[in-house]
Amino acid sequence: MKVDFYRHGLSPKEADSVGAVLSSPILTSGSVGKKVEAQLCGFFGTSDALLVNSWTNGALAVLLALGVRPGDEVIVPAMTFIATANVVELLDAKPVFVDVDPDTLLVTPQAIAAALTRRTRAVIPVHSYGQMCDMIGIRKALSHRTDVYIIEDAAHCFEGSRDGYAPGTHSDAAIFSFYATKNITCGEGGAVVTNRSELAETVRKTRLHGMSAGAADRYKNGTYRHWDMEILGVKANLPDLLAALLPNQISTIRERLPQRQALANYYRDAFKDMGIRMAKIEAGVVSAEWFFPIHVPPAVRDTGIVALNSRGINVAVNFPSVPTLSYYRQKYGYKASDFPVSYDWGGGTISVPLFPGLRREEQDAVINAVRTGVVPLLQGAA
Ligand SMILES: *Cc1c(COP(=O)(O)O)cnc(C)c1O
Repeated sequence: MKVDFYRHGLSPKEADSVGAVLSSPILTSGSVGKKVEAQLCGFFGTSDALLVNSWTNGALAVLLALGVRPGDEVIVPAMTFIATANVVELLDAKPVFVDVDPDTLLVTPQAIAAALTRRTRAVIPVHSYGQMCDMIGIRKALSHRTDVYIIEDAAHCFEGSRDGYAPGTHSDAAIFSFYATKNITCGEGGAVVTNRSELAETVRKTRLHGMSAGAADRYKNGTYRHWDMEILGVKANLPDLLAALLPNQISTIRERLPQRQALANYYRDAFKDMGIRMAKIEAGVVSAEWFFPIHVPPAVRDTGIVALNSRGINVAVNFPSVPTLSYYRQKYGYKASDFPVSYDWGGGTISVPLFPGLRREEQDAVINAVRTGVVPLLQGAA
């Protein structure tokens, strides 16, 4: 059986909401986006929410608004998608990688505390695969450093929580991705949520070149207002054409989480006796169950991928350890042994299909393919 790695859950019916935008005079950021931002404030209980055209551009807008400058250090996990580190690198600041916990694959408060220097300006914990980091612990570890900002990479964790708190609660800002494979998607997009209104005010500018008013705000009471540019920004605003795809997904995301949980738990039950390593979910965490990565010894991972592909199962790798990719390795001289957990996980991980709409017979085909194609490779490989 052929099993897709991912299928989005949107239907052609959504065209109606896009069509409504087409009959408005200005297609980019306007009234639709403002409504979605209000909806996000309600969902997360934050004072502010700002739509952006990707996690990446949203993070750049936030780092610019916080004044992160060349030479500053920003702590990021070695196990994440490259975007988390690239945004730091793009500002000529230095990503300081830390290894992750071998059970959860998350950065810990201890690892962050150990990486702090006088130059540290920010930390970007990543809620990997939907499991939130210990944000209260991280905040405590930084309590003596009021000059260090905390920005959550919540690209995998829109609907997840930890001990009852959500992303955006214990940080300066949390940033989401609405990229094609994320739990909420409009193809490309993202959002920043924050309880710091003065930061939101600045991000409102840095997400649009640093301009003081976007196109939709230039007419107030029928009068044209001049804009100024007070601070350097990026082009990160989300068009209403894409924002129109979000309201329905946001209002139903909590009811859709049990489908992801059921699929993930079905995998967990099936794989636990096969000698396949999986991320451990800690007590008190409600994971958003984004992707489902399994782990085998790195020496047999690629053979395992071929075995799954030959059985019709499409898989992906999330993610190779970032500091050992060519750019970072060549620029900073990192070795695999610098981040052993991330390197081993990145070298041995395979993400199997997980999305609402994945059918039971498809999931059974994945499990069978792992049993017949991957498990035999484990013998003697460790
Ligand atoms: C997807 C992803 C991003 C980047 O999101 P974009 O919206 O594509 O810019 C950042 N961090 C993590 C952990 C991701 O998985």
